[in-house]
Order: sequence, then C-alpha cells, then structure tokens
Amino acid sequence: MNKPKIVVLGSGYGGIITTKKLEKLLKSGEADVTLINKHSYHYITTQLHKTSAGTAQDNKIALPIAELINNEKINFKKATVSSLNFDDKQVLLENDETVEYDYLLVALGFQVETFGIPGIEDHAFKIRSFRSSKAIYHHIENQFSKYQEDHDPARLTFAVAGAGFTGVEMVGELVENLKNLAEKHDVPYEKVQIINIEASPNLLPGFALDAVKYTTELFKTMGVKLMTSTKILECTENYVKVDSGEIATKTLIWSCGVRGHQLFEEAGLETIRGKMKVDKFLRIPNLEDVYCIGDNAHFMVDEKTALPPTAQVAMQQGPVCAENIVATMRGTELKEFEYNHKGSVASISDYYAVGKVGNFVIKGKFAALMKQVVEAKYLFALGGPGLVFKQTLGLNPLGF
Ligand code: FAD
Repeated sequence: MNKPKIVVLGSGYGGIITTKKLEKLLKSGEADVTLINKHSYHYITTQLHKTSAGTAQDNKIALPIAELINNEKINFKKATVSSLNFDDKQVLLENDETVEYDYLLVALGFQVETFGIPGIEDHAFKIRSFRSSKAIYHHIENQFSKYQEDHDPARLTFAVAGAGFTGVEMVGELVENLKNLAEKHDVPYEKVQIINIEASPNLLPGFALDAVKYTTELFKTMGVKLMTSTKILECTENYVKVDSGEIATKTLIWSCGVRGHQLFEEAGLETIRGKMKVDKFLRIPNLEDVYCIGDNAHFMVDEKTALPPTAQVAMQQGPVCAENIVATMRGTELKEFEYNHKGSVASISDYYAVGKVGNFVIKGKFAALMKQVVEAKYLFALGGPGLVFKQTLGLNPLGF
C-alpha cells in the first residue's frame, strides 16, 4: 500500500513547528512528509525589523532549515509554490513541478496590506521577508553614502508608517543604529530625523494607556517625531504625502498591516482579507484534508473574535495541527485548538520594551529582558539547548 503523503507549505513559525511535531508523532515509514519553502533557511519573522535596521547579525535571524529538521524523516524541497489545485490534490511549483498530497498544511504566512494607497506598492519599503529586510538595510546605508555626494536632507529623513506593534519595534531599531551609521559615514547625527506616522490618535492602538504613555515619552527622549492622527495619502520616491502636507523623504518603511496569501483567492476560494476560515480542528471546511494555520488562517475564538496574525498563534496551532493530521490518517479522534494568550511585548531597541503579560503592563529594561526570554524560548522549541547556545555564541552556519 502507498504511504500517505503529507505536504507542509511554508517553513515559517507555523510550518516548522508542525513539521517538528510530525517528526515526533509519526512512526518510521508511516507517511512521507515533504516540507516546501521558498528559501533554504527559516527566518525569524518576529525579528525582521532588526535585519531591516542592521541591528542583528544575519545568522541570528536566518537559520538553515536542513539543520532544524530530521532530514531522514522529512523531505525538504526549496521551491516557490505558484498555485494550489484542491480538486486534484496537487501543489504546483514555480519550477513547473507538481507535488501530490493526501494531507496538506498551508502555512505560507502574510502578505503586506497596502490598502490601495498610491505609490505604496512601488515606493514604500516592506518588512516582508529576510531578503526584503536586507534590502531595507542596504537602502538605508546607501542614503548615508549618497548624502555625502548631494547633501539632500530627504536622504536623512527616515519615516515609518504605522505605530502599531511592528512600527514601534522598527522605530526602536532605527534609533539604535542610525547613530552608528551616521558616525560610520561621517554625517552629523543632528541632521538625521526619524518620523513615525500613525492614523490613530495614539501609538500602539489596543495597548494599555500606561504602555502608550511610556512609549510616547520614550520616543520623545529618543528624538523621534511622532505624527499621530495623520493619514498617508501617497508615497513617491522623494516624498510622502499626508493629510497635513508633504514630508521630503526617500525612505518610507511600511508597517500598516498584513493579509493572508493570494494563492487561496487564485484557487477560487472565498477568503477574509486573504485568510482562509478554518474550523476548530484547523481544517479548511469542505476541504477536510487541508489544514491552514498562522497568518493564513482565520480562526474564530468566539462568534465575534478572530485570532490576530501573530507568531504566538502560529506556534500554538502547529502542534495541534500535526496531531490532527496524524489523527486523520489513523482515523482517531481530532483535537480542538484552544488558544492560550501569554501576553505581548514590543521591543523598542535592545534596551527597552513595553507590553502586557497576564494583567500586568510591563515596560523598560525588565520588559526588554522578558522579550529576550521569549525569543530564547522559541529557539529552544526549534532546536533545543544546542540551538540556544549556538545562537548566543553567534556562530555563522550560513556563512553570510
Ligand atoms: P511566516 O512565519 O511568515 O512563514 C511563512 C513562510 O512561508 C516563510 O518562510 C516564507 O518564505 C514562505 N513562503 C511564502 N510564500 C511562499 C511560496 N509561494 N512558496 C514557498 N514558500 C513561501 N508576532 C508575535 O507573536 N510577536 C512578535 O513580537 C511579533 N513581531 C513581529 C515583528 C515583525 C517585524 C513582523 C513582520 C511580524 C511580527 N510578528 C510577531 C508576527 C509574526 O511574525 C507572524 O504572525 C508569524 O511569522 C506567522 O507565522 P506563519 O508561519 O503564518 O508565517
């Protein structure tokens, strides 16, 4: 009898955690598992703002997938998925290869939501992947060297769109590194301006008032110009148009929201902002051998509330998804997914952070430490104490 084929699409938070759980659950020879991802490395999406600002070594953010999985149990394929054919149970790849599945997990992560604002697609920089984040850093550094030639002040104005979780984290990293870049390129730091533009009346919408006040004050101390209640109307190569005028800048970093993956819509399925509705077992209704988690999934915790697109959600869904794929195969009972919110902490550089854990607002250096603990816990889940140790020592297995 042919072995069942399990195919996992995407090796981000959700995909890699599911794969590792499948490694543990499946008996030898029970199924063929294939993991497909665009790149040969897994990147730590929650730290891409550091790559964008140049505050993290590449080898701390991008980890070779081959070193994270058991290559004897998992067949890893570096490829880009181009379409999904649910009728014939096939995944089509950009290299024209077709991969057949019996059980499929779609965990391809987010795409950037531009809300159709003119110029954002073409001119704003997006923290989308490790590569796009490296491109942001190269652009930023380039502005400093070009400033030496043309002394255009727009080159030294760095705007971040959105003061939600990611936007605030991005601003914190810019504060941490632009001083170093100014020094490296012999540019007076007083000429550098960091602007954070937010449509809501406050930064960190949805956070506790205490956290909002703390971050607003911290931004003031750091010299960040915070423009709240300000809508972005257009972005060009040379300026950003907002409702109160124009900001001359060659750098707008867009962190105003995400949506699911276009592959579902292209396959003719109905989505909610690109996300697939999933049932309590993480399956796509009417496609019951197809699972979907993380930023691709629209999971309702009650009649009114859907889970947000966070790594915390993807990481909790992964193991349940693996258990349910195996249970479906074996014809045993499925497990309902229950989300357990452990809190959220936004870093503002390596030295400060703000957030809520349980009922407590945490801020400052203690919160920054908590954030680092959360990051270390993820490394532990990925590769045990060995990986935490390796990453802490800063070894460079990819050789970037
Ligand atoms: P991802 O982790 O994005 O993984 C998707 C994978 O699919 C990627 O490896 C990608 O390369 C691959 N892929 C995409 N398209 C294709 C294709 N066509 N073919 C093949 N492979 C493909 N969440 C938190 O909980 N806490 C935080 O502090 C936090 N901070 C964040 C900071 C930043 C800067 C960003 C951008 C996000 C942050 N998030 C945070 C959100 C979190 O990173 C996401 O919710 C999480 O990564 C979702 O996991 P996922 O598995 O769904 O997708």
